[in-house]
Amino acid sequence: MASTSIWKDDFPVFSSHAHPKLCYLDSAATCLTPKRVATAMYDYQCYSHANSHKGLYNLSANATELVEKSRSKIAAFLNTPVKSELVFTSGTTESINIVANCFVAPKMSAHANIVISSAEHHANILPWQKICQAHHAQLRIAPLTLAGVVDIKALSALLDENTIILAISHVSNVLGGFNPVDKICQQAQKKGIAVLVDGAQAVAHGNVNLTEIGCDFYTFSAHKLYGPTGCGVLYAKGEHLTHMPPYTLGGGIINKVSFEETSFVNSPLKFEPGSHNVIGIVGLIAAIDYLNDISWGEITHHMSDISAYLHHELAQLHFIKPLLKHNCDDQLLPSLISFQVEGVHAHDVASLLDSENIAVRVGHHCAQPLHKLYDVSASVRVSLGIYNSYKDIDRLIVALNNVYQLLAIRELE
Ligand code: PMP
Repeated sequence: MASTSIWKDDFPVFSSHAHPKLCYLDSAATCLTPKRVATAMYDYQCYSHANSHKGLYNLSANATELVEKSRSKIAAFLNTPVKSELVFTSGTTESINIVANCFVAPKMSAHANIVISSAEHHANILPWQKICQAHHAQLRIAPLTLAGVVDIKALSALLDENTIILAISHVSNVLGGFNPVDKICQQAQKKGIAVLVDGAQAVAHGNVNLTEIGCDFYTFSAHKLYGPTGCGVLYAKGEHLTHMPPYTLGGGIINKVSFEETSFVNSPLKFEPGSHNVIGIVGLIAAIDYLNDISWGEITHHMSDISAYLHHELAQLHFIKPLLKHNCDDQLLPSLISFQVEGVHAHDVASLLDSENIAVRVGHHCAQPLHKLYDVSASVRVSLGIYNSYKDIDRLIVALNNVYQLLAIRELE
């Protein structure tokens, strides 16, 4: 029973006087940082910092080795054998933009189409929308099932010989369910269509197996995995990377430059111009090591326990209106839930919770089209991390009862 989290003390923010009694329920926005990650980054910056892939001296060579060893660790984390298929980026947003501009844009025409789902984050809508607008091409939107995942049959009907890419989230940041991305990839690839999977919300659950999923592209951000912001990864099949032009141009990606022309190095370095974000990469690897040391089995067990408790307790409150209704008897319940409080504006809910040091997300969570689909402009989102426990959820429930008593009932009187 998760009345406490044995990992909470690993996170210094919970003992900070600046945030007394913090109840952090916004891990889908960003995960808090364990001390081990912060220490690894501090140590690197103080004692080992140098520009990687540039200098011949020891300090720089060590930084180069660190980046390349990190690539191997990420390959192991994602269960993919070829480390040169992994590009360091600034995060999911940049990763998707690289694919949009360097893989998809050169293939576009007025006859072409791009398929996404109605539950995508703006990061997985805007780059495709822009390209479609530029080419007067179609952006097709796959609907969801009542369970809040992509409707595979309806999706399949949208894919045709003019589809350049299918871009879909592994886990929605509003609804929290896992899309069956392996089946979706099989269907798309039968028709010769490339698939990008936005893994931003999936990586914190571990067990991402790219070999099994079989996608062409996979993206994630370190900060959704207890690492730092400003660092992320793009996985891309080697055959695609070879044919893609570099995205951002600059130093470190060239074979030869003259004033007339330039030739580029091979991928992945072709997509990593300028100076590497070595400290970010150090933080990402420290986070992966930290989570591996806990073990993904333990993490999954804890997360499914507290997720079930969250859904069960919220279901007892008649005034909580979730965007998506879950069956609390389900084996696997999402580690997040988006809802409205009857009679209270979502922003007022969040403000009152904040006055009790309870941090939740409010708004459209960068998924405005999905909120429109549910006919709401804003929702409150509660999302869990490994530091959460039953205690946090109990505090949330008491606070939500107070919000309702204070704002909704008064309104009705
Ligand atoms: N996709 C999804 C599903 C997300 O949840 C997020 C972050 N909220 C992003 C993309 C964008 O990630 P980042 O801001 O790290 O680039």
